Amino acid sequence: MNEKPLLAKYKSREQRRINIIYHEIANQIITEAKRVAASTVVLENLSNMRRKRSSKALNGRLSRWSFRKLQNIIDYKAKLASLNVKYVDAKDTSSLCPICRGKLSPNGYRLMICPTCGLEEDRDVIAVKNLLHKYKRDVGASSVHP
Ligand SMILES: [Zn+2]
Repeated sequence: MNEKPLLAKYKSREQRRINIIYHEIANQIITEAKRVAASTVVLENLSNMRRKRSSKALNGRLSRWSFRKLQNIIDYKAKLASLNVKYVDAKDTSSLCPICRGKLSPNGYRLMICPTCGLEEDRDVIAVKNLLHKYKRDVGASSVHP
């Protein structure tokens, strides 16, 4: 046996494993959305995602392609569960403070710090808070759950 079929076999097994994880993540999101009686699931609009940000923010854990695939699964399951799905432009969501809108600085591998108000939080948590902030502003939603 040469190397190629073995590698292909490994890759498809890995892909199936990743797919299972994506479905589990999507199920958890839908379950949580139902638990808090949400009407809408807010996702990041990846088509406007800049290259620089994707490499920095996702840090190689998820490529833009696999992120989109995960979103497709969430989108599909959300609609099956009668939830709305809205996409929000992610511009500046990982660089501005969700509290005072100050410019954030990196503080270690995962954390960001706001020199203005002192907020220190995981960069993904900050991005989600900013995304919800934008969604709220855009549609005038009364309450949001990270
Ligand atoms: Zn701040």
